[in-house]
Amino acid sequence: MEQFKDLGLCEHVLKVVSNKKFEKPSEIQKKTIPLILEGKDVIAGSATGSGKTLAFGAGIIKNVEKNEIINGLILTPTRELAEQVAGAIEEFAYYKKLEVVSVYGGVSMVNQIKKLAYADIVVATPGRLLDHIRNNSINLNKVKFLVLDEADRMWDMGFKNDVSKIVNACPKNKQTLLFSATISGELADFAEKHMKSPIEISVENYVDTSKLKQIYYDVRDDEKFSLLVHLLKTKKPYLSMIFCNTRRNVDFVAKNLKENGINTQAIHGGMEQNKRTRVLKSFDSAQTNVLVCTDVAARGLDIQGVSHIYNYDLPKDANDYIHRIGRTARAGAEGIAVNILASRDYNSFSNILKHNEGLSVKREMTPRFEKIYVKFDTPRRESGFRGRGRPVRNASRGGRNNSRSPRRNIPAGGIRRPAGRDTRGPNRRHINKRSDSSSPKSRGGYRDKRGASDSPRSRSRVRSDGQRARRR
Ligand code: AMP
Repeated sequence: MEQFKDLGLCEHVLKVVSNKKFEKPSEIQKKTIPLILEGKDVIAGSATGSGKTLAFGAGIIKNVEKNEIINGLILTPTRELAEQVAGAIEEFAYYKKLEVVSVYGGVSMVNQIKKLAYADIVVATPGRLLDHIRNNSINLNKVKFLVLDEADRMWDMGFKNDVSKIVNACPKNKQTLLFSATISGELADFAEKHMKSPIEISVENYVDTSKLKQIYYDVRDDEKFSLLVHLLKTKKPYLSMIFCNTRRNVDFVAKNLKENGINTQAIHGGMEQNKRTRVLKSFDSAQTNVLVCTDVAARGLDIQGVSHIYNYDLPKDANDYIHRIGRTARAGAEGIAVNILASRDYNSFSNILKHNEGLSVKREMTPRFEKIYVKFDTPRRESGFRGRGRPVRNASRGGRNNSRSPRRNIPAGGIRRPAGRDTRGPNRRHINKRSDSSSPKSRGGYRDKRGASDSPRSRSRVRSDGQRARRR
């Protein structure tokens, strides 16, 4: 506790920190809280999981008075993050009794308008906040403290202009804090225009690598789902998050996990907000054990007890990888990040390793696993199943000297299987024996001509290696 007192936290926040039994400040807290409390503008390079909410919360809570006027404004890229940050600030502000109101789209504005009438601090996503500004249902004239949380993600999501409009609707004389995993040129331009001599702070590691194990399996595209089911059933993780790159893949994986008896829910930006909130609550309370998600929906979420992260698709953006693995090994707990790699992920994996020096992702021997039958509601190519073109097996082995093989982009010694040895057990042999997608006969045989994911043909039952199951 002494270390928290030394940072200058106000009594109200100190009491909460003590109740929460935080032992010592995190690195980002140590580095930013004194500057924030001094009133400086700060740019902090830090991901969620580092304890940044308390860092900016400490500043807001110390400076904002309970007067039912909006003095503090926090912008977040997603609705879920807005809810989460509002909840955390409300907790930290408990003894000061500040009113924290979250404002985001997908739900009625009327309730928000009622609550805004007595808000001291608002946590908002940019789009809905602009709606309120246009509607004259919010007054930002008295904002003294502005936080841009996960600013890089807001820029990625195209909120740059919206954020600029919001900043212009706030008074010039205010303290601005910008938290972001990366500071791009555009963010730096924004900071130069809107911040007062900001001090840049970064922390060495966003992820506590001593608590986090990172591994990868190298399988065929059409084995991903079977391996995932095997790992979920045999490792029995407490709470798992499974990341996919597209909404369709999220739906595909979630649906088929459910069909395989795994307690699963999906979350992505295409779902109704109420449903998203329900899903998160269920996962947060461990009623659901597996959450299949996109980066956007899961960005910045702080859910206690996430023991496993699975990358069903490797993210194309190297920073997204860091955000994903940061959902586990939080607050001193241990965690594991499992990458299920197939040929279509090789470029992304190389990119992740290239941009995150020092990451240690160890290869794990692929265990024996049962082949699973799946239903397609999504094009096979996206969901990890291939129907046409070169035989996937050859591509993933890199056995032939084929200059078009995706392997050419893998770092030397990176992810090759030991030469001449099949590490994947009898299952593998079983696949080789049967007429699978590598047989000329089956090539092009089962892919719907239109490639439409919702065609009746594509919904038929198929084997996990991408073959259509024989009708009985
Ligand atoms: P955040 O990065 O703000 O989302 O925080 C991640 C998690 O760490 C939250 O559950 C916080 O309550 C927790 N936390 C924040 N600061 C500390 C700390 N100094 N010691 C232990 N846990 C912390």
